[in-house]
Amino acid sequence: MKHLPEIFFVTAFFGIVFLLGGYDEKVGSAIGNTKMGAAVFFTQSTTSAQLQDTFKNASSTKKKLNILIVPGHEPDFGGAEYQGIKERDLNADLALYLAQYLVEDGHYEVVLARGRERRNPFLENYFASSAEEIKKFVNTQKEEMARLVQEGKITTKNNGVEHNDAPTDVALRLYGINKWANEHKVDIILHVHFNDSAPRKVNNPGEYNGFTIYTPERQYSNAEASAEVSKHIFKRLSKMFPVSNLDGEAVGVVEDQELIALGSGNTVDAASVLVEYGYIYEPQLRTQSVRTPVLKELAFQTYLGLADFFHEPSVISSPYESTFLPYEGKTPVKKTLLANKEVLSFQAALSHKGFYPPENYTKNDCPISGLFGPCTHTAITAFQREHNIKGEKGEAGPKTRSTLRSLFAPELITTR
Ligand SMILES: [Zn+2]
Repeated sequence: MKHLPEIFFVTAFFGIVFLLGGYDEKVGSAIGNTKMGAAVFFTQSTTSAQLQDTFKNASSTKKKLNILIVPGHEPDFGGAEYQGIKERDLNADLALYLAQYLVEDGHYEVVLARGRERRNPFLENYFASSAEEIKKFVNTQKEEMARLVQEGKITTKNNGVEHNDAPTDVALRLYGINKWANEHKVDIILHVHFNDSAPRKVNNPGEYNGFTIYTPERQYSNAEASAEVSKHIFKRLSKMFPVSNLDGEAVGVVEDQELIALGSGNTVDAASVLVEYGYIYEPQLRTQSVRTPVLKELAFQTYLGLADFFHEPSVISSPYESTFLPYEGKTPVKKTLLANKEVLSFQAALSHKGFYPPENYTKNDCPISGLFGPCTHTAITAFQREHNIKGEKGEAGPKTRSTLRSLFAPELITTR
């Protein structure tokens, strides 16, 4: 594929810092009930209202919203793999697309934790120079957490979803990212991942599909803001993409107490959200011609979710609020063994018009995959019936395509 540049700092390294209310009193004073309705021991380190204020004042104060994007896993190690496709590469590519949308928007300062090839040198230096402090930080937080659990101030929660344990050095770097983010007053951390299901034979697809968002368990100091951000990103992604059908993930936004990325041991002050954008073996990730637009769309929907959280219309012009649309399909839609781009945009267009997934099927049964199979065939048949198209039975022939195209004529744009 076209090599993505190793951009670490999409914009300049942010030197501007600001204090969040109660920042220094992270652990200590018990507060009452939050909006989430749970008894919370940790003082809120950030809130939705604070983030929204920062965002609103961004233009006048020049203090932009600080976002740290962390592509899951290491440049050369870890993550799911399928048929030579590596999750860690997909994470880096999606993160870069997302960073580009956020920077283009103008409200955000964006830092990427790594690219495909190497870590952000600032973080790399930090890991090396602060190794001892990071270890101390982890131990202090863990001891404090254990004490609070023992005293009954914090309740341990298990959401039933199994996570792989990270090797010690990887875990330390994840905690290091948390500490670094705390010290640099990062507002929001977005962790980018693709999922895997176990057990699975290396070269066989697994049984689940769809995306899930993990958010800090509600007792943590960053829980409220993270949950709100998660909710808005979820709303956008779920318009087009199926939600994971794995037990425990099917709720869409899953609270988690153990993931380091989200602040295990209450180690993160910023809102932190971890998105599993789909399963590594899903067909839309197999071929580059489909994978690239899909990664861009996932990034774009995430960006729109953030814009929604901030009550801000997207400043990036996209009349149908999707990079897949409007439908322009002028080339034939072919049935190929692997996914192809014509089928992808055809399915997206049918989906926008309510024909895909076809009646009685879910998005998990019939995802927008770029694969022409029974789902697409059934959807086309219904579309042809509705539009009285004859002679192209279940095929995406010229009449079908031009009818679908005409539904995306500029004068028909009605979305906001
Ligand atoms: Zn992962």
